[in-house]
Amino acid sequence: MASTGYYKHPTAIVEEGAVVGDGTRIWHFAHVRSGARIGEGCNLGKDVYVDVGVVIGNRVKIQNGVSVYRGVRLEDDVFVGPHVAFTNDKYPRAFNEEWEVVPTLVREGASIGANATIVCGVTIGRYAMVAAGSVVTKDVPDHGLVAGNPARLIGFVCTCGRPLREEDIVSVGEEVVYKCSRCGRKIAVPRRDYERMIKEREMFRGCR
Ligand SMILES: [Zn+2]
Repeated sequence: MASTGYYKHPTAIVEEGAVVGDGTRIWHFAHVRSGARIGEGCNLGKDVYVDVGVVIGNRVKIQNGVSVYRGVRLEDDVFVGPHVAFTNDKYPRAFNEEWEVVPTLVREGASIGANATIVCGVTIGRYAMVAAGSVVTKDVPDHGLVAGNPARLIGFVCTCGRPLREEDIVSVGEEVVYKCSRCGRKIAVPRRDYERMIKEREMFRGCR
């Protein structure tokens, strides 16, 4: 198939050695470093920074002011809200000569709300949802909904993005199966993730 190329606003910088897929749009003052690989059909908003060697999947949407540092990987269809903060150093010191990149993985279809902070070393599961302003310090399971500081697992969301409610549960066994009231999809959650959610939801409510 013939390459249709990508769009780059005249103020954006895409360094030599970066690879950007067809149909991707890179907006004002964004900066993509050498060795970064960005898939097709992505949208990088104003002031987005993509570090050396970062790999970003297809159809990823990154809103204004997000820095995707080395060690962060975004799979296909990930949404990153405005001013989300990623990190990549677990023991930051201005004067350290040697430091280790601690990787962060955001899996397919996951969404991260505005201004959330993702502490390095975590995996955010497929189709998970991070509420705006959360501080994520541990792994989020597939379809998990997390909120707060530190972020607690307070529920699950459908692939379509809607929260799954207790009354949407259709079966309970090794997996808890929900049927989304909006789109009708069935979403199966491992029992241990469901039990973690019940516990953390209590902790979350206890904080208010
Ligand atoms: Zn749904």
